[in-house]
Amino acid sequence: MSKVAFIGLGNMGGPMAANLAKAGHAVCAFDLAAPALEEARRAGCEVARSAVDASEGAEVVISMLPAGQHVRSLYVEQEEALFDVLDEGTLVIDCSTIDAQTARFVAREGQKRGIGFIDAPVSGGVGGAQAGALTFIVGGNAAQFERAQPLLAAMGKNIFHAGDHGAGQIAKACNNMLLAVLMAGTCEAINMGVKNGLDPAVLSEIMKQSSGGNWALNVYNPYPGVMANAPASKGYQGGFQVDLMIKDLGLATDISQQSAAAIPMGSAARALFTLHKAGGHGKRDFSSLMTFYQGADEA
Ligand code: NAD
Repeated sequence: MSKVAFIGLGNMGGPMAANLAKAGHAVCAFDLAAPALEEARRAGCEVARSAVDASEGAEVVISMLPAGQHVRSLYVEQEEALFDVLDEGTLVIDCSTIDAQTARFVAREGQKRGIGFIDAPVSGGVGGAQAGALTFIVGGNAAQFERAQPLLAAMGKNIFHAGDHGAGQIAKACNNMLLAVLMAGTCEAINMGVKNGLDPAVLSEIMKQSSGGNWALNVYNPYPGVMANAPASKGYQGGFQVDLMIKDLGLATDISQQSAAAIPMGSAARALFTLHKAGGHGKRDFSSLMTFYQGADEA
């Protein structure tokens, strides 16, 4: 069992840290938000007053933060940056979805100090995090990948080695761009069916079993009431924020520009989610794009 520091206990990090503690690892957790710390304590984690305190004596540090600037700051740039205090030989597993350049930069900075850093973004949503059923997409060397396996297995079911540092983030950006397109398409289709007299649950079941079937229909139906546990049935609270999806579509846009890979569908999805955010919905779950199609003000 490992001594683990866990930084970032939001919608995803909270349940991930809880699953590590449940598996018997000694987890010391930190988040800027007090309620998140209290939740972690209830889930069996020790809690700390700062990231530095949480990391004292840790063999492995795991982070689950919003974006690249938070990761760069935590490990390298802020006062009391973790790379200045972690022991040589520590492994850092960053599960945040960030840009590949930042992941490679932080990995290089770690290497200079004898600290391993891998990017290990996840897929599976809050439900997957709670169930310990996430998919991890790892970028790093083979030895680091092997070392991370037992910890990742306590939080996930599918663990992929995408390639060297940064490769996990590229694969994650490809996946989330596809997810955005699928969610937008699913909202579009359900809205058209409902406006033409269909029951959203019946239509969803038909499409789920037909050639339009996809992850949004299977586990994350965007229409309220169709799926009891989906954010759509909880006022679009929790889950995966519109703001975070727009961040991910920005990452995909950067990758497409750097590589001259055309992403017309991804660009359309980015425009849709940005218009939805402009309506004041940035903090709601991304499946609330449904209300954009509906004409909107069930908000
Ligand atoms: P969130 O906003 O719910 O959680 C982020 C947490 O980080 C917050 O609790 C915040 O207080 C904390 N935080 C920020 N800066 C910090 C710092 N310097 N030190 C300590 N804590 C700090 O976000 P989330 O939904 O948990 O997403 C986290 C990451 O996972 C994002 O990169 C997101 O894109 C990715 N992701 C989210 C989902 C999802 O379904 N929510 C799915 C896959 C990947």
